[in-house]
Amino acid sequence: MAGSLRAWAQPKAEPRPQSEYPVATDARIEQSGETVRLSMMLSANVAVDAWVQASPDRVIVELPSTNFQIQPSAKRSAGFVSGYRYGLFTADKARIIIDLSQPATIAKAEVKTVRGGFGELTIELKKASRGDFLAEAGKVLKPGPAMPVPAPASTKAAGEARRTIVIDPGHGGIDPGATVASIAEKAVVLAFGKALKEQLEASGRYRIVMTRDDDRFVSLGDRVQIGRSEQADLFISIHADSLTQAQEVRGATVYTRSERATDAEAARLAAKENEADAVAGLETSEELQDVAGILMDLARRETRTFTGVFARNLVEKLGGSIKMHKIPLRSARFWVLSAPDVPSVLIELGYMSSPKDAELLNSPEWRGKAVTAVSAAIEDYFARERASVGKAAESRN
Ligand SMILES: [Zn+2]
Repeated sequence: MAGSLRAWAQPKAEPRPQSEYPVATDARIEQSGETVRLSMMLSANVAVDAWVQASPDRVIVELPSTNFQIQPSAKRSAGFVSGYRYGLFTADKARIIIDLSQPATIAKAEVKTVRGGFGELTIELKKASRGDFLAEAGKVLKPGPAMPVPAPASTKAAGEARRTIVIDPGHGGIDPGATVASIAEKAVVLAFGKALKEQLEASGRYRIVMTRDDDRFVSLGDRVQIGRSEQADLFISIHADSLTQAQEVRGATVYTRSERATDAEAARLAAKENEADAVAGLETSEELQDVAGILMDLARRETRTFTGVFARNLVEKLGGSIKMHKIPLRSARFWVLSAPDVPSVLIELGYMSSPKDAELLNSPEWRGKAVTAVSAAIEDYFARERASVGKAAESRN
């Protein structure tokens, strides 16, 4: 299944395994006068492209797929550069995104071959006026790779009897999600997603599709689209945020989509999750316009009902085995849950900001318990559906 997703992301060739990517090490950032220079050592000389982007102001550096092995102690800011991050962007591209606290333009973006066939990447930025920066930003409009989105082909075979569940590990690649003490949300939720897939597949009753099964970026629109084109019976997005400064706030929460948020915290969280595309430097991303029409309205209403049933199941099963947030079932306007015809929920496994939660999120034992609870909720959900279909058939006879 993952193979087919990859084939869709890059139709021409299977992407190389990550172990074959050029390796980036030894990042340095320094300011001298009006210039800030970011450099990295690469295991090969590769092509580099760079451009600036306004609001938020930043520099996007694009390289072929790169395996970043940057020392954790590397300095991350200097002068007008308030920070930078890096990671895979698509199957064949990586990005470094440099956040600017003041306008700057690109004086140099190059990879020079150095001794031993290595490459030295240098990005040199020069302080600029707002006008010059905006002029530079206006010159380039790089379309994100996901816009326009080619509808991914479904891998669902005709006559497939199993239920289809799409598991959506949040964030990935250039977008790390919440990061606390070098633990990234993207890694925590991927590990959880893979464990859930394994357990569900073992039952033989489900066809599982992952929106990503490695450390890569997938746009929100593509995630929704994968759920729809796979004709998923359930879409489960997995997250583990650090929303609050309050370290004592902890526990898991199940979210569904609604236009009006149940509370301010839910609204803040949805707003943060909806920014995922911007974090990766996608220039344009707009939520799909709602499809109008009576049939769509019916589908949406039905989807909402099923979503509600499943979400309550989840809260019940999860609550029996792991610690839940004090308001465990909430809703807000999450873009990733916007498919009108796929029951979709988002599980916040816990708060990375809580030291206790962070420890649990990383423990295989805790993960096993939570995965088993989610699987049980799925079993229950489809069992009830079978029972109600059975009853309907009986009453017709
Ligand atoms: Zn998240």
